[in-house]
Amino acid sequence: MSSPKIHSKLPSVGTTIFTVMSGLANQYNAINLGQGFPDYQMNEELMKKVTEVMQKGWNQYVPMQGYMPLRESIAEKIEFLYQTKINPDTQITITPGGTYAIYTALTTILQPGDEVIIFEPGYDSYIPNVEINGAVPVLIDLKFPDYKIDWNEVRKKITPKTRVIMLNSPHNPTGAVLMEEDIRELRNIVKNTNIFIVSDEVYEHLIFDNIPHQSILRHPDLSERSFVCFSFGKTYNCTGWKLGYCISSPESMIEFRKVHQFNCFCCHTPSQVALAGFLKNKEAYLSLSGIMQQKRDHFIELMKQTKFDLLNSSGSYFICGKYDRISEEADKDFAIRVTKEFGVATIPVSVFYKAGTDNKVIRFCFSKKKETLETAVERLTKI
Ligand code: PMP
Ligand code: GLN
Repeated sequence: MSSPKIHSKLPSVGTTIFTVMSGLANQYNAINLGQGFPDYQMNEELMKKVTEVMQKGWNQYVPMQGYMPLRESIAEKIEFLYQTKINPDTQITITPGGTYAIYTALTTILQPGDEVIIFEPGYDSYIPNVEINGAVPVLIDLKFPDYKIDWNEVRKKITPKTRVIMLNSPHNPTGAVLMEEDIRELRNIVKNTNIFIVSDEVYEHLIFDNIPHQSILRHPDLSERSFVCFSFGKTYNCTGWKLGYCISSPESMIEFRKVHQFNCFCCHTPSQVALAGFLKNKEAYLSLSGIMQQKRDHFIELMKQTKFDLLNSSGSYFICGKYDRISEEADKDFAIRVTKEFGVATIPVSVFYKAGTDNKVIRFCFSKKKETLETAVERLTKI
């Protein structure tokens, strides 16, 4: 007897590049500037707090929507940052990470045949999230090399089937950020339509050069048609916690919770209880952009000794670099060779395009200790 065969829902999907490159980095003992995570310890006080609340007995289920005091702290924070009142009871759901929030939002909205506008390069989970729902990704290239959105192109690609525009600012993998004029264009495009916005804002606190983060939550006319997704992992240097949240209108949140409650139901209790108090510490999140900007600037300075040409990064913890002065290899081959031969893992940017567009660009993650960045660049100068 042979085992039953699965008719794959994602036939064209393989193992993600993050798994592949981190695996290679381990195998070749390379410095990992590939997958996005800090190589330094998270906040001591927050760690202590989680341990403490576990010992006090906060180890059973919280409500499906999330621990209420945490939702209240999030609402306060949003009012402080973006001057918008959010109802913690009806508009916020705590999720196991940002990726899950995005998947749940798309699953909540999409019916088979719906179209979703996705910009490329784009975070690798978006297209599979759309396809698994029987919907159709409509792909638009960000303009190389500044990776800005061409809004005229967006206008051309809108059809009666367009159901979602997927946004991500600060942007992974490029570090591009949305500016006020982008919001104006977006507003004009979606006005009087049935289009939702799913806004991936996991890097909200990683934005540099005093540029304000254009959260969709700043704009009530846009946020009423949006699902806005966040991640505590990015804000508090604990990507392994996989905790985040989603914000939408009360009507949309009812539907979001229907999907969420039969998937994960509720998230890790002790982290939520610890974060409820810790979120009130403004300095802990406000200091992040300064710390990360310093790392970016240090990395840019160091990289001047190499033959890479770095592109602009205004946010996230990523910066892309062109290597066309070094090699004509395909970016995947180049990134693999640099890992094996020079001991530095990166991410080839072509993986963030469905068609594998190769501009000879690789992505570096700079949320690393000073020494890590210095040793990595020392190795990169040898190429
Ligand atoms: N969106 C983007 C653009 C990301 O880079 C990440 C980071 N991994 C996520 C979502 C997911 O965040 P989380 O780890 O909380 O699922
Ligand atoms: N967001 C992280 C990155 O872009 C990786 C997350 C993952 O491994 N899926 O590097």
